[in-house]
Amino acid sequence: MRRIYEPAAYQAPASCWWHDTVSPEPRPELHGEHRAEVAVIGGGFTGLNAALMLAQSGVQATVIDAEQPGWGASGRNGGFCCLGGAKLPASTIAKRHGEDARREWQAAERAAVEHVAALLRAYGIDADCHSTGETLLAHNAKSMRDIQRTAVNVTTEYGVTPHVFTAEDLPELGLNGAFHGGMTTPIGFALNPAKYHAGLHDAAMENGVQTFGQTPATALAQYGAGWRITTPRGTIVADRIILATNGYSSEDVPRWLRARYLPVQSSVIVTRPISTDAQSRQGWTSTQMCYDSRTLLHYFRLMPDGRFLFGMRGGLRATPKAEAALSRKIRADFHAMFREWHDVEITHEWSGLLCLMRSFMPFAGAVPDMPGVFAAMGYHGNGVAMGSYLGARLADTVLQRPQQGPLPAFLGTPPKRFPLGPMRRALLAPAYAAAALWDS
Ligand SMILES: Cc1cc2nc3c(=O)[nH]c(=O)nc-3n(C[C@H](O)[C@H](O)[C@H](O)COP(=O)(O)OP(=O)(O)OC[C@H]3O[C@@H](n4cnc5c(N)ncnc54)[C@H](O)[C@@H]3O)c2cc1C
Repeated sequence: MRRIYEPAAYQAPASCWWHDTVSPEPRPELHGEHRAEVAVIGGGFTGLNAALMLAQSGVQATVIDAEQPGWGASGRNGGFCCLGGAKLPASTIAKRHGEDARREWQAAERAAVEHVAALLRAYGIDADCHSTGETLLAHNAKSMRDIQRTAVNVTTEYGVTPHVFTAEDLPELGLNGAFHGGMTTPIGFALNPAKYHAGLHDAAMENGVQTFGQTPATALAQYGAGWRITTPRGTIVADRIILATNGYSSEDVPRWLRARYLPVQSSVIVTRPISTDAQSRQGWTSTQMCYDSRTLLHYFRLMPDGRFLFGMRGGLRATPKAEAALSRKIRADFHAMFREWHDVEITHEWSGLLCLMRSFMPFAGAVPDMPGVFAAMGYHGNGVAMGSYLGARLADTVLQRPQQGPLPAFLGTPPKRFPLGPMRRALLAPAYAAAALWDS
């Protein structure tokens, strides 16, 4: 597999908190010849949701992962199950695709959150959920004015009433940091992504899905009316294939993917449990999941056990030097926003790859010129809900049945290539610099 970051970006996270909380049995490697109706490449939320839905409809689905199911972003994200998935503002979606498509997209965002909540309920998955909706905190006075102006859109677009509050309200809300107020939208919740993934994997297995670890697809070739996937120690002959590799995609498996996705690193730190005294000193006692209004945003939440999770964009490179610089930066940002916690020990720190698309919208649909091959990817850092949902919707597409939830047709438009080919992450440097200037 040819991929565009340094090898360190494709290694297991050094110290991920979620991995201390759940340790699923490793899945075996695929050996010999295997037959499947649908082969799913990638065992994260997208791939497992697709496979589970297929299995529930009586289709034999096999999932392979180059490492282990859940090894990618799905097992190491911030656990915000929330609205999102696009980087385009709603007004631009409406301009490009029409008002109906905009409405359908926002209905899909809501349905995505409900989809995950329903899965957790249906399979009795305890994923340490907390937080009622999601809170946006203004990092400067201008952002607070923007929030006040746009709060009304939340009601018209998502049919809920957000709670807008000022800086004076922050202590009472238990959200006392360097903010100018904010807004809570009562949609979404926080979860432990590894527990959600493990429960989803169990559910898929119980429904007859077969999963394999340490099984990278190294080549795809047409085989009769279907496809043949080559892996290091075996092959899968399948009628149809789903690509669910998102930020861990490669340039050559299949070649169609080349330059159509842009992996971006995101980084997270988790502290030791913060005592209730220290929480009170900072004035941050709420377990509400929050993000700030910067373009290069921070996302953070106090977890039910008192640990604090804090995440932000990762480095442009995955070299030891870049990683050390990022480690200093994430600590500096954390301490600047939570001054009382400068001496709180940071016990876990890791990075992972999310995925941007040139259209700034996800893709979920058929791969052109590869009959029977489908893909879903590009959730712009919001794939807990949207990746799960689009995986399930892609199963509907594969089954050629009516969609079981809202899905705007334009998500099926094949993604265009980014400029600069394998060098395309160079596009991020000026984008980050401009965003940092804008945020200051
Ligand atoms: C640090 C971080 C924090 C994030 N926080 C949030 C958040 O709080 N909320 C949110 O909504 N989203 C968040 N995201 C994004 C979210 O995690 C992803 O959008 C989502 O998990 C994508 O799921 P996926 O199944 O499509 O891909 P992944 O979970 O990345 O899975 C892709 C899998 O494909 C496998 N693979 C790749 N190539 C091959 C091959 N050739 N053969 C076999 N297997 C292959 C990989 O090993 C990998 O396991 C975050 C991402 C990161 C990195």
